[in-house]
Amino acid sequence: MDKKTIDFKRLSKICHVVLDMDGTIYNGSQVFNFTSDFFKKLDRLKIRYTYLTNNSSRNVSQYLEKIRSMGLHGTKENIYTSSLATIDYLQSRRPELQKLFILGTEGLKEEFREYGFTVVETDSAIEPDAVVVGFDTLLDFKRLCKAGYWIKGGKPFIATHPDRTCPTDQPTLLIDCGAICEALSSATDRTPDVVLGKPDPSMIWGIMERNNLNKEEIAMVGDRLYTDIEMAHRAEIMGILVLSGEATATDVKNAVHQPDLIVENIQELGELLEQSHQTE
Ligand SMILES: [Mg+2]
Repeated sequence: MDKKTIDFKRLSKICHVVLDMDGTIYNGSQVFNFTSDFFKKLDRLKIRYTYLTNNSSRNVSQYLEKIRSMGLHGTKENIYTSSLATIDYLQSRRPELQKLFILGTEGLKEEFREYGFTVVETDSAIEPDAVVVGFDTLLDFKRLCKAGYWIKGGKPFIATHPDRTCPTDQPTLLIDCGAICEALSSATDRTPDVVLGKPDPSMIWGIMERNNLNKEEIAMVGDRLYTDIEMAHRAEIMGILVLSGEATATDVKNAVHQPDLIVENIQELGELLEQSHQTE
């Protein structure tokens, strides 16, 4: 990239980077060989970071285990998932919704219980206030039908994220939250009232709120134009595209919203951050 187009002044204000995971810090199960140095550089520059994922099949504790098993560092505070975005949304915008019927994994249900919500089970006599649909990797027909029953009955219909499939290198197709919601929509004639997760800007607002940041201090880094960069655009923060994953330079030319910065990978980003923070 032509270095003259790089806005070093803007970069120098960045003190927190939000990092997409697959395609940005690793590919499949393979961590990039420059990832570890990138994090060391962030530590030296006192730039904090958040790992961001739309996948709501694992909760934060389970994600932390995954990250550590890949040799990456961090604590629970460094992880933000679409389930946390859903929890933050409900607590700040819909505090009256306390009892939830959750179509999701045990890990997801556990996370909602930790934040004080009542999780309503299929055979419970309790009537839920809303239905939350996540990436339910143990999808059960009886539970799917019960979710449909409550949605048809008019309960708020909330999806943790829009993805219809989840990438995998296995010989299967992982049916994700968006596709499960479409089955429910087809049966109930209703679409979700709210869809959290990328590219919804509430993912960024939640991280800003939890870390006490303003828009100039935070940047989104990711490999997808229609989720990572689109979300940065909607949240009006700096969007940095890495070419180490899905998007190519040709895709950028056709993109609706252009990234504020394009780098080959996070190694190049680390170098630019270092230069900009030295010239402060
Ligand atoms: Mg990605």
